[in-house]
Amino acid sequence: MSGHDIAVIGAGPAGAAAAIQAARSGADVVVFDKAPYGRDKVCGDGLTPRAVGALNELKIDLEDAHRIDGLRMIAGSRARELDWPTTDRFPAHGAVWPRRRLDAALIDAAVDAGADVRWESEALPILDGERVTGVEAGGERWPADLVVVAAGAPGRVARILGSERITDEPFGLAIRTYAESPRHGDRHLEACLTLEDEHGTAVPGYGWMFPAGDGTVNVGVGALSTMKGFTNLNLNTLLESYRGLVEGPWQLGPNLERPRAWRLPMTAQRRHGHGWVAVGDAAGLINPMNGEGIDYGLESGMLAADLFIDDPATAAVRYDRLVGERFDSFLRTGRRFSFLIGHPWILRNGLRVAVGTQAVANITLAVMGNLVDSGTPGAAGRVLRLADRGLALADPLLRRTRA
Ligand SMILES: Cc1cc2nc3c(=O)[nH]c(=O)nc-3n(C[C@H](O)[C@H](O)[C@H](O)COP(=O)(O)OP(=O)(O)OC[C@H]3O[C@@H](n4cnc5c(N)ncnc54)[C@H](O)[C@@H]3O)c2cc1C
Repeated sequence: MSGHDIAVIGAGPAGAAAAIQAARSGADVVVFDKAPYGRDKVCGDGLTPRAVGALNELKIDLEDAHRIDGLRMIAGSRARELDWPTTDRFPAHGAVWPRRRLDAALIDAAVDAGADVRWESEALPILDGERVTGVEAGGERWPADLVVVAAGAPGRVARILGSERITDEPFGLAIRTYAESPRHGDRHLEACLTLEDEHGTAVPGYGWMFPAGDGTVNVGVGALSTMKGFTNLNLNTLLESYRGLVEGPWQLGPNLERPRAWRLPMTAQRRHGHGWVAVGDAAGLINPMNGEGIDYGLESGMLAADLFIDDPATAAVRYDRLVGERFDSFLRTGRRFSFLIGHPWILRNGLRVAVGTQAVANITLAVMGNLVDSGTPGAAGRVLRLADRGLALADPLLRRTRA
């Protein structure tokens, strides 16, 4: 039983990114995943330019992914085809990469870098008082200087560490399946923003068609918890009714697998402590405006590894601060925005504005995709600055009047 520099719980994008980055810098890394190698993850498989940028930073070959040039935004009878914005920070293209293959490419890169990956091994943190000293897996103890919690949406590990989601903050649920379509090679993602539940109530969320370029498309719907009646929302029914809208235009074949749903955590009570950090979904890093979490997993995983390599003693505290500086304000604005669109009237009228003209729709895409920040010059940066300030002022009202 020898000690490791880093023990990672979870071999999804967040855990793999941490393992790749740390192992390439010479750290001794062990990764545990309770699933077998090649496991799938319920996901839309969509990668924004920001996520492609993170994969480029990790030097992952995107040959196997299907390149995407932009988004077709649909609201009622109006459709706007938008290209990804050109920025000097991110590439001008995104991708669709089915998770079974994306996650395998990432973890293979971690193994190539020297990480020891243990499949079908559930790992739990070992606590010595307040400090995490390693993990316990398969009846063995694995001491480590840092435990990276990359276990996805909160479960057992989060309960042990007190890092579950904050219960009065928004979260999301989404469901997806695959189907064959002659349009699998389309270069635009498609998002329908005007979903309605079976009672005709507007649902804050969207339905998607993400063409995978391999004969299939990923078909799904997602919803935010800020709508009235969310607990009774039937995702299977919502997906069926969305499918009814798209199956003609996409000439969809039957579902290739039973639709599966999963959670989208958007907060965490804690994301670090003595000897541990949480990354990706385990840290609640999902964009409330579009449900994207792969990029945040990759970025937070890389950041945690870089800080450990720089100085193991201060890594956890600095990680919490730096990940917060990078994402907290944007994600907070997104959560406030989701309270707002939980009101059907605001959602319907907001959508009219958001897709009203090509110029405004372009700004919507850049802001929702987190492809600008409040320091970005131009209209999109201004909109984000205004939204930040306006929604911060309105925060108490938004919470009091939540749907
Ligand atoms: C329906 C749906 C659609 C989505 N669509 C998109 C999209 O199009 N684009 C996008 O960017 N994001 C999307 N997301 C979000 C995205 O799937 C997640 O943000 C992303 O998977 C987070 O990566 P992660 O590495 O943090 O966690 P995960 O990918 O969930 O990986 C966690 C891993 O930890 C393992 N694990 C858990 N507990 C333990 C344990 N105790 N011991 C060992 N192993 C453990 C699990 O087996 C799993 O392999 C979607 C989510 C849903 C539900």
